Amino acid sequence: MTHIAVLGSTNMDLVTYVDKAPERGETVTGREFRTVPGGKGANQAIAAARAGATVSMIGAVGTDAYGARLRDTLEHSGVDTDFLRTVQGPSGTAHIVVDAEGGNAIVVVPGANGTVDHLSPGDEGVIATADALLLQLEIPLPAVVAGARAARRHGVRTVLTPSPVQPLPPELLQAVDLLVPNEYEAVTLTGRTDPREAAAALLELVPEVVVTLGATGCLYLARGTEPLVVPAPRVTAVDSTGAGDTFVGALAVALAGEKPVREALTWAVAAAAISVQREGASASMPYRPEIEAQYG
Ligand code: ADP
Repeated sequence: MTHIAVLGSTNMDLVTYVDKAPERGETVTGREFRTVPGGKGANQAIAAARAGATVSMIGAVGTDAYGARLRDTLEHSGVDTDFLRTVQGPSGTAHIVVDAEGGNAIVVVPGANGTVDHLSPGDEGVIATADALLLQLEIPLPAVVAGARAARRHGVRTVLTPSPVQPLPPELLQAVDLLVPNEYEAVTLTGRTDPREAAAALLELVPEVVVTLGATGCLYLARGTEPLVVPAPRVTAVDSTGAGDTFVGALAVALAGEKPVREALTWAVAAAAISVQREGASASMPYRPEIEAQYG
């Protein structure tokens, strides 16, 4: 069976819905409040598990009640949490205020994620047995670099989602096989406004690039091959939160299962299209039979 390792963040999203976000010094009454398990690492882990892989999550939660709930959420999706540590203090949180127009303001407090600044004993062993290692940038960069290097030592494919977007140091890029930015991230990383030009610039840094393009689909470039454009199915989107994470999780599973690249991209685009038609981030992620049905 396909085995995916994820080294990254787990967050509790604390989401408040308001008519209008408060100004400095102002107090407003909100309409609704929800706690939603998230974090790009945990989201990608759940996406990959639902897409049919055995998944190991490497990271940390806190000793607060959110930590227990975050661990439970992963386990309920079938993710192995043996390497998700519980560290003294709060879990990572994202405080999100959503206004009536759907605009948002977000404060992320890393909490336990901030302690993941190195590989812990056992982590390299898990990475070594995986078909792919999924990385994002919501934990300290030294751990991301250490994870990518460990994967490289064992011939494990590394997939990096460069979010939140920030300059990528050469020691990280040298150990990345596949970079998966969304359009904003691709443009920010390269300063090129055209996604094709941005992808081409990124291809000078890593061997394979997929730029996700929202409702348009995705663009794939690899050295020495023609670019591939895979359109997204036309669907009515109700909530695109976590679409990128669904895409990456499903793509990693498809590639590890030895689907040819075009098929793997089509599969990932099908999975993400299902997720945008449903509310929630990880809650909206499809299970393998649903992806097969949409893909077929
Ligand atoms: P992110 O969620 O990281 O910002 P994108 O918005 O590019 O990333 O979305 C990731 C993928 O999700 C896209 O490549 C596409 O396959 C799918 N997707 C996003 N929005 C839609 C949509 N409105 N309709 C169909 N598929 C979508």
